[in-house]
Amino acid sequence: MPQCKNCGSCAINHNHYGRDGTDPNLCDACYWRTKAERSASDVKRLREWIREEGERNNTCTFNVLGDVCGYCECKRKHSNNRNEGLSKAVPLD
Ligand SMILES: [Zn+2]
Ligand SMILES: [Zn+2]
Repeated sequence: MPQCKNCGSCAINHNHYGRDGTDPNLCDACYWRTKAERSASDVKRLREWIREEGERNNTCTFNVLGDVCGYCECKRKHSNNRNEGLSKAVPLD
């Protein structure tokens, strides 16, 4: 019976729990923990990329990341904002 290379468990069920055949030497628990850790670091990389692209394009990423961007401090930098303001301009008395 194969054992998990990580924890020695024999609970390796490739036909169950939605396993996709990767990490054949990991038990079910370690398989999912490894997957979760991988996707967590993927998300981190993606967020980093979005932040950098936003800064490069001068676009606010608050709606995507949920964080206030350092470069715009969420004054919602957007080239359209000015035009929007003009189209619904309120008469000044
Ligand atoms: Zn294991
Ligand atoms: Zn922002």
